[in-house]
This record gives sequence, C-alpha cells and structure tokens, in this order.
Amino acid sequence: MDTIKLNDAPGGNHLPGEPISLWLATTPRTDFKSLKDDLSVDVAVIGGGIAGITTALLLKQSGASVALIEARKIVESVTGNTTAKVTSQHGLIYDHLIKQFGTEGAQTYADSQQAAIEKIASLVEENRIDCDFTRSDAYVYTETESELERITADVEASTKVGLPASYAETTPLPFEIKGAIRFTNQARFHPRKYLLALVEKFLGDDGYIFEETRALDIDEKERICHVTTDKGKVRAKQVVIATHFPFYDPAMYFARMYPKRSLVLGCRLSGKAPEGMFITAESPFRSFRSNPLDDGGEIWMVGGENQSALHRKGFARIGPPLHRNRLWRMGHDQQHGLRYDSLGPCYGA
Ligand SMILES: Cc1cc2nc3c(=O)[nH]c(=O)nc-3n(C[C@H](O)[C@H](O)[C@H](O)COP(=O)(O)OP(=O)(O)OC[C@H]3O[C@@H](n4cnc5c(N)ncnc54)[C@H](O)[C@@H]3O)c2cc1C
Repeated sequence: MDTIKLNDAPGGNHLPGEPISLWLATTPRTDFKSLKDDLSVDVAVIGGGIAGITTALLLKQSGASVALIEARKIVESVTGNTTAKVTSQHGLIYDHLIKQFGTEGAQTYADSQQAAIEKIASLVEENRIDCDFTRSDAYVYTETESELERITADVEASTKVGLPASYAETTPLPFEIKGAIRFTNQARFHPRKYLLALVEKFLGDDGYIFEETRALDIDEKERICHVTTDKGKVRAKQVVIATHFPFYDPAMYFARMYPKRSLVLGCRLSGKAPEGMFITAESPFRSFRSNPLDDGGEIWMVGGENQSALHRKGFARIGPPLHRNRLWRMGHDQQHGLRYDSLGPCYGA
C-alpha cells in the first residue's frame, strides 16, 4: 500500500500559510457597488452563495430581470469555505430518509441530488467554465466493525432509490478500512472559479448584483414585494431568499435549524493524492478530497472536527499538532446552519 507523504517546506510551497480557504486564496475578490437608488425588477434574489447565484442566472436565462442582493461579498460565506464535493452522498443518509419519509420521500431527495450534479455539469460544459470540475467516486467508509451494519443498510437504501451505490471492501485511501459505500460518477470542483464564471454570464441586460447591501425586511403590497435593505428599496414581483439562514422568517424555520462549525486544512502532497472523495461513517468525522493547484501541484483537503458553534474549539484541537509538524499551510473554519431532519438548510443549498 502506498504511503502519502506530506511535503510542506515552510515558505517554499506557495500556499498562503494563513487561515483562508483554497477557493478564496486562488481567486480575485469581487467589488460590486452597493444599491444606491431604488430599483424595480421581476425577481429579487437575496444571498450571493451557490443557491442565490445559480437561481439568479437561471431566472435571467428564462427572461426575468433579476437583482441579486448580497449583505457582504458574493461567494465568501459558506460557499466560499466549503469542501465543494458535488455529490448525492454526503454521509449515511438514505436508510434514515426511507425510515423517516418513506421510499417516495427518499426518492425525491435522491433525484434532486443527482439532478443537481448533472445541472452543474451541464452549466460547466455549456459555458466552458475552467473550474477543475472532475468526475470522481465518493466513499463513506468505516474503520470500525460496528459501523458495517449502517453501511450495508445505506447501500441497500441507496440502490432502492436508484442511486449509483455499491459496497466496497477497499478504497484508494492508503490505509485499511472495514467497509465502505461507493457512489460512482460524482464530482468535485473549485466553487469560486465556477460561480464567478456564472456571475459573468448573469451580469448586464437586466441582471444586477449589489454587494454590501443587507436585506432587512420584505413587505407585500398589491402583489408587489418591497424589499427594504440598509441601502435602499427593491420592488419585485417575486423574491427568492437564498441567505442559508433565514432573515425573514414568518414560518419560524430558524427553529428547525442548528449551527455547526467545521474545520478544513489544506496540505500539499509530494505524491499523487488518492483518487476519490471520502467521508468517515463514524466520529470523529473526517472528509477528504484533493484539488489541483494552478502551479501543477495538488492540495489534499482534510475536513472534520465538526462541533457545536456554541462550544467552538476551532483549530485549538486539530491545528497545533499538525502545525507543530509543519504539515499544513492553509486552513479555515466555517459555520453553517443544518436542519434537525438532516435535509440540509432551509434557505439555500
Ligand atoms: C466546511 C464545510 C464543508 C462543506 N462541504 C460540502 C461539500 O463537500 N459538498 C456540499 O454539497 N456541501 C458542502 N457543505 C455545505 C455547502 O457548502 C453549503 O450548503 C452551501 O455552500 C450553502 O450555499 P448557500 O448559497 O445556501 O449559502 P451561502 O454560501 O452562505 O450564501 C448565503 C449568502 O447570503 C448572504 N446573506 C445572509 N443574510 C443576508 C441578508 N439579510 N441580505 C443579503 N444577503 C444576505 C450571506 O452573506 C451569504 O453570502 C460544506 C459546508 C461547510 C461549512
């Protein structure tokens, strides 16, 4: 079995050596103007992450005038700090979904996830976006005998809803595992390269972006929505809220969500990274993937140590042991909102 060697000569590897995500460190910062004058459009999309930008572009392509309103800078929040695996498998979930929502509910979820992968693939291809989009298999693996039952239950559940899942006794990782579920033909990409290219397509001809413009309230009068921001008003026939966590919340969705904080470290490898994307079935949670660097090298991303945002330990827990050995030169932590029913956030991707 090959051994991965970490190769991080201090100062000589062109990694930033500071807490920033690979995506933010390797793309230019955006600088869109804030909203100045009141504006009328068909649709106001609030939130400039992957959910907001994708929605804004698709709406504009269907003929609507669209204003994208972002409180800070686009693609810098959760989307700017993700591990960016484009998968219908983000852990062991399908057995749970069938038990919780029935086969039909799990099927709807599975179909939406597979459709999202193919939508991203088609946008990359149609627009010839250079964003390191790569097809890859995704694994959830265990090193513990007792987790095998959950893995085999998820293989059965995933195949029942038509997903490209199978049981695997080994993975390309350079250590022994007890067993894994493998999803074929999934993908990974550089989310900022991808989304900044979509933004280019979106802008102009009634496609607007306003940064540093925080939506504060939405009021509906005579079938027109009035979005109040800290800079001015936008009138729109429809409003899409893609803020990840709700800011306008008459249905009290906030109560169905909880905040979690995840850490990601980036290390340069001297050898070739194992091909594939990997998540552990058990705790402590670990998520791995590689990404090419513009200088021809490769970065190995290690995510994990998910923790309550309330009891944040940050890099105090995994940073120093690695830092002492000078094994990492970049890393970041990011908070996101998850739903108690495991279905993802309420207001976004
Ligand atoms: C460490 C980590 C790893 C992850 N790995 C993966 C992965 O591998 N694969 C995967 O599919 N998912 C992954 N996720 C989850 C995924 O990244 C998120 O679900 C996704 O990026 C969320 O996108 P979004 O557009 O919904 O939210 P965001 O990217 O957070 O965008 C929301 C935007 O709304 C703006 N906003 C908020 N309030 C207002 C307001 N009042 N007015 C105007 N703007 C506002 C924010 O500033 C922000 O820019 C990961 C998440 C984390 C934290």
